[in-house]
Amino acid sequence: MNNKWSTLRRVRDNFSAFFDQSFECELCLEPTNSKIGVCQSCLARLPFPEYTCSRCSEATSTPGICGKCQKQPPSFDYSVCSLNYEHPIQYWIQRCKDRRDHKQIARLANIMTMAAPMLIEEPDIVTCIPTTHQRRIIRGFNLSEELAGHCAKYLGLPFYPQLLKKTRSADKRRRSARERNEQPSGLTFRNTSSAPNLEGRRVLIIDDVMTTGSTLEEAARILKHHGAISVGGWSLARTPKPR
Ligand SMILES: [Zn+2]
Ligand SMILES: [Zn+2]
Repeated sequence: MNNKWSTLRRVRDNFSAFFDQSFECELCLEPTNSKIGVCQSCLARLPFPEYTCSRCSEATSTPGICGKCQKQPPSFDYSVCSLNYEHPIQYWIQRCKDRRDHKQIARLANIMTMAAPMLIEEPDIVTCIPTTHQRRIIRGFNLSEELAGHCAKYLGLPFYPQLLKKTRSADKRRRSARERNEQPSGLTFRNTSSAPNLEGRRVLIIDDVMTTGSTLEEAARILKHHGAISVGGWSLARTPKPR
C-alpha cells in the first residue's frame, strides 16, 4: 500500500512539474505548448508598441520620424524596440537579471526574434551594450549579450560582444566633469587584436532595455568614430517617455 502511494505521488509530482514547465500559460494558466510559455491569446496581449519614431523609437501618433529627430538627428541611424517596458515584460526582465535562468533568457530572446522588426539598414555585424566588469562578475552574465547572441544567430550575422567596454561605475566619481560630459555612460571602444575592422561596416547594437537613448547615442558615436558607416539599435523593451 505504501509503495503504491509513493508511486502515485511520484507520478503526480512529475506530472505537475512537466505540466508547469511545458504546457501551462504562465499568465492565464490555460494549457499551451508554446515555446515561450504563454498561450496565443496572452501573447497577442503583450505590450507591443504601436507607432514609434523610426529613429529614436519613442512613441508617436503617426509612423515616420518624430519632430525632435527631424530637428536634431541622433548619431544612430535607427532604433527599434520589440516591446514596451510594462507588465509582464518588466517582471520577466527583472527575474532574468536576478538569476541566470536560461529558460527565461531564451523566452525573452524568442519573443524578440518572433517580433523581429524590419531593420532600416541591413547590418553586417552584431554587438551589444556592455555592462561593467564588476556587475558582470556579481550577476554572472550580461542580459544584453545573451539576447544579442540569440539575435545574431537568428539574423545569421557575426557577433562581436566585446566591441565596447563600460568602465566601472566607481570610476565615475574619479572622472573629470569633462570626461563625464563626453562619455556620460562610461562607454569606450575596446581596442583588442580580435576587434573587427569597422571601416564601412553597418553595426547593429542589441540592448535589453532602452531608456533615454543616451547609451545608444554614445555607442553609435564611438563606433562611427572607428569607421562604422551605419549604427542601429534593437532593444527588447523601451521605457515610456517621461511625462
Ligand atoms: Zn494565456
Ligand atoms: Zn525620434
